[in-house]
Amino acid sequence: MSRSAHPAGPRHADVLTEGHYSAPAADLNVLDEKVWSRTVTRDADGGLTVGGIAVARLAEEFGTPAYFLDESDFRARCRAWSEAFGPDADVFYAGKAFLSRAVVRWLKEEGLNLDVCSGGELTTALDAGMPAERIAFHGNNKTVAEIERAVEAGIGRIVLDSFQEIVRVAHIAQRHGVRQRVQIRVTVGVEAHTHEFIATAHEDQKFGIALADGQAAEAVRRALSLDGLDLIGVHSHIGSQIFDMAGFEVSARRVVQLLAEIRDEHGVELPEIDLGGGLGIAYTSEDDPREPHEIAKALSDIVTRECEAAKLRTPRISVEPGRAIVGPTAFTLYEVGTIKPLEGLRTYVSVDGGMSDNIRTALYDAEYSVALVSRTSDAEPMLVRVVGKHCESGDIVVKDAFLPADLAPGDLIAVPATGAYCRSMASNYNHALRPPVVAVRDGEARVIVRRETEEDLLRLDVG
Ligand SMILES: *Cc1c(COP(=O)(O)O)cnc(C)c1O
Repeated sequence: MSRSAHPAGPRHADVLTEGHYSAPAADLNVLDEKVWSRTVTRDADGGLTVGGIAVARLAEEFGTPAYFLDESDFRARCRAWSEAFGPDADVFYAGKAFLSRAVVRWLKEEGLNLDVCSGGELTTALDAGMPAERIAFHGNNKTVAEIERAVEAGIGRIVLDSFQEIVRVAHIAQRHGVRQRVQIRVTVGVEAHTHEFIATAHEDQKFGIALADGQAAEAVRRALSLDGLDLIGVHSHIGSQIFDMAGFEVSARRVVQLLAEIRDEHGVELPEIDLGGGLGIAYTSEDDPREPHEIAKALSDIVTRECEAAKLRTPRISVEPGRAIVGPTAFTLYEVGTIKPLEGLRTYVSVDGGMSDNIRTALYDAEYSVALVSRTSDAEPMLVRVVGKHCESGDIVVKDAFLPADLAPGDLIAVPATGAYCRSMASNYNHALRPPVVAVRDGEARVIVRRETEEDLLRLDVG
């Protein structure tokens, strides 16, 4: 994802201070279909439409800022993943990317399983009718109450993350008179090619049990010795927003090696491995994500090859895409407010949201694209920084991008690929009202998560 420095647009020809933006697209009115959801297009008047509805109408009906989620795209991505992996594998959607009751119903209808990592996500999943056996429970610090609830519900699997948790879950399962299906999360020592704070399989971090020093083998020994646990496999998740399959290859190889060691030591072949999620999506035109069928083929080839070499039966594979399913399906619609040109630097374009609806830019230095969507424009490109309305100078939504120089207050702009980790990480900072999520499909739009109101704020404030 390296970005080449490029002479800026004519409006700010002297700006080369940071050099982390690419050239403006030849025509800012052309939407790069890589970063927009499938039904997004411009209509005859030049306004953007999604699911056949003009954004101007959506803004009028639902207000801004708001997330618009392309439901048919979401469902198509679910199907693409489950068809790519086929009947001998399981696709678990990582609920933390974005979860709501409607999403749970779509997943259920499209045949996917679901990862949760808190009591709140579990409650949402069960409330919307996801069968407990299709749910996996993750997390490095599940509370006793959460584990109890999961075991009572008959959850499909709990992914054990520590030695203490192995004992904790075993005791709870025993108390409930069940053998809980579990996997052990191992850290395979792979550092995915991504931002440090979202890489999770190198060893100096809070998740999982290290393969190194025989820690994972010891965890397996303990899990196999406890009556309350039915150890079905090993789990590895190496990071997020990954494009390079090499990390997955190393991870799969090490996980299969562990299965072979378990077979040699205990005489059991664990039937499943989970290779986690983390597959990258296109946030800008420079990102080139892989299609689910390529990913499925790459992963199953590696596992098959490694198992043949180790003379193991090929285990059932599961994967856990979150971002790759929901990320590309939504955009955030904002209304442009104050526009502040800083001579010789860039133009600051303020929108009616910000870090409260998209923290990823501030948190991970994430890159996004942006487009003027209420109309087209033939004005020359100007270098902009899209910022929110919060009391932080780091309140940046899109760090460097180009918008037409005739941009004016009241215009609508949209940031694509905000389906994952935006609403789910949204906050009330500055007592912002978290935006709604509106599902759009076949000419119909309906709110699936409503906008927060000032009454909601006051309801929690009971002092
Ligand atoms: C976050 C997470 C995922 C999903 O990651 P994406 O980047 O959204 O695909 C999958 N599995 C585990 C264990 C995770 O923590």
